[in-house]
Amino acid sequence: MIVTDLPCCPSLKEYRQIVGAEQFSAIEELAGRLSGIRMQEINSTRQGGGVAEILASYVPFLNALGLETTWSVMEAKPAFFDVTKTLHNFLQGRDGFSPSMIETYWEAQRQNEGLIEDDADVVTIHDPQPLGLIEFLTGREREQKRLLWRCHVQLETVPTGTAGSIGNILRRLVEKYHASIFSSFQYLPLWRVPGFIIPPFIDPLSEKNRDLPTAEVDAVLAKYGIDAEKPIVTQVSRYDVFKDPVGVIEAFRKVRRKTPCQLVLVGGRACDDPECFLVLREVRETAEDDPDIHVLDLPPDSHREINALQRASDVIVQKSLKEGFGLTVTEGLWKGKPVVAGNVGGIPLQIRDGWNGYLVSTVQETADRVLYLLRHPDAAGEMGIRGREFVREYYLLPRGVQDHLAVVDQVVNGKITARESVICYHPQVVTGRMAACAPRD
Ligand code: UDP
Repeated sequence: MIVTDLPCCPSLKEYRQIVGAEQFSAIEELAGRLSGIRMQEINSTRQGGGVAEILASYVPFLNALGLETTWSVMEAKPAFFDVTKTLHNFLQGRDGFSPSMIETYWEAQRQNEGLIEDDADVVTIHDPQPLGLIEFLTGREREQKRLLWRCHVQLETVPTGTAGSIGNILRRLVEKYHASIFSSFQYLPLWRVPGFIIPPFIDPLSEKNRDLPTAEVDAVLAKYGIDAEKPIVTQVSRYDVFKDPVGVIEAFRKVRRKTPCQLVLVGGRACDDPECFLVLREVRETAEDDPDIHVLDLPPDSHREINALQRASDVIVQKSLKEGFGLTVTEGLWKGKPVVAGNVGGIPLQIRDGWNGYLVSTVQETADRVLYLLRHPDAAGEMGIRGREFVREYYLLPRGVQDHLAVVDQVVNGKITARESVICYHPQVVTGRMAACAPRD
C-alpha cells in the first residue's frame, strides 16, 4: 500500500528558523547534489510506533526539498505480525522464536513481493518486517538500485551460528543490502555490510510537537478527567512489556505516598503489535480503580492530545527496559520537561544524568527521581530548558534528513565499494558534526 494521505508542503522556512540558516543550507546543498534521484521508504505500519512517526514527517520534508520520495506499507495477515513481534523481541534478547514461524514470515514477503517500485533508485527498508523483500528483486535490479536496511530495534547480539536459524537468515538478508543504518554505535553487528549511525529525530512542527494554546491543553485535561491543579507524571508508550508500564505504576505509588500527584499512562494499539492487548489488561488490573491513575487507550492519530498531555506534565517518565532510541523521551525534552527514563538502549544518547533528566534502572530509583523533581520545580525547570536546547541541536527532523542524505550520497555516488567487510561510516562526522552522545563538561 502506498501512503497517499501525508501532509503536503511543509514550510521549509519555518524549519530554517528553528535550526538556523547554516544547517539548513548544508541540507539544501546535499539535496541539490542528489537531485533527480527517486527514493522509496518501506515499513510495516502506517500508524503507531516510532518508525511511522518518523516517516510521516520525513517523507513530506524530502519532497519539499525537491527529492521525489514515496512511502509504502506492507500488508499482511495478523499471524505475520505475531511472528514479527516475536522476532522483534528475539532481536532485543528474548527467546520465543520458533522455526515454524519462518514460513509465516516468507508467506508475507511473497504477498508483498511487488512492493519495491521499479523506478525507485534508493530504497530504505525499515526494521525486520519487510527485510526479505530484497529476495524478490532480480540480480540486475539489485545492482541498479541502492538498497538500505534501517534498523530501529535495540539489537542485542543475534545468534547467527546455525544455518537455517532465524538469526542466520536475517544476517544473510542484511548482507545483501548496500548498507545498514542503526540508531546507535552499540547496535552495530559485526556483519559484512557497511554500517552507518543515524540517531532518530522528531518533527518540531508536527501535531505531536508544535506549540499549543494553553486553552487546548486545559481542554484535553478536562476531557480525560485529569486534575489540572495536581502534579502530573506521564509516560507515553505502546502497551508493551519492554516499556514497563507496570513498573511505572509501582514507582508512582511510592511517590504518591510522599506527595500528592497523578499518573497518566498514554498508550494505544500499534496495529503491528498484537501483544499490547494483554499488556493493557495487566496495566488496568494493576491500576485497579485508582482515581489518580489515568490509563488512556488512544486512537493512533491522537497526536495533538498526546502533545497536550506531555505539555501539561510536570515530569515525563519513560521507564523502558529495552529501547531502540525512545522518541517519547525526545518529545518530552523538546517540551521543556525533565525526563526520568530507563538507562537502556538509545536513552543515554538523550539524557545526561542529572543535567536534563535522570537515568534509572529500578522502580525505587524511578520513584526517588520523580519525587525529587516534583519537590524541586526550579531544578526541574532548568533541566527542561537544557533538554529543549539539546534536542534542538541534535534530534530534530532537519538533522535526520541531513544525515540520511549524507548516507544516500555515499552509496549513490560510489564512495562505498567494499561489501566484504564491516565499514562504519558516521554521517555526523562526514557532515562535520559530532552528535552521538550528550555533551560532557
Ligand atoms: N505514540 C503514539 N500513541 C501512543 C503511543 C506512542 O502516538 O499511544 C507515539 C509516541 O508519541 C512516539 C512514538 O509513538 O512518537 C513511539 O516511539 P518510541 O521511539 O518512543 O517507541 P517505539 O514505539 O518505536 O518502540
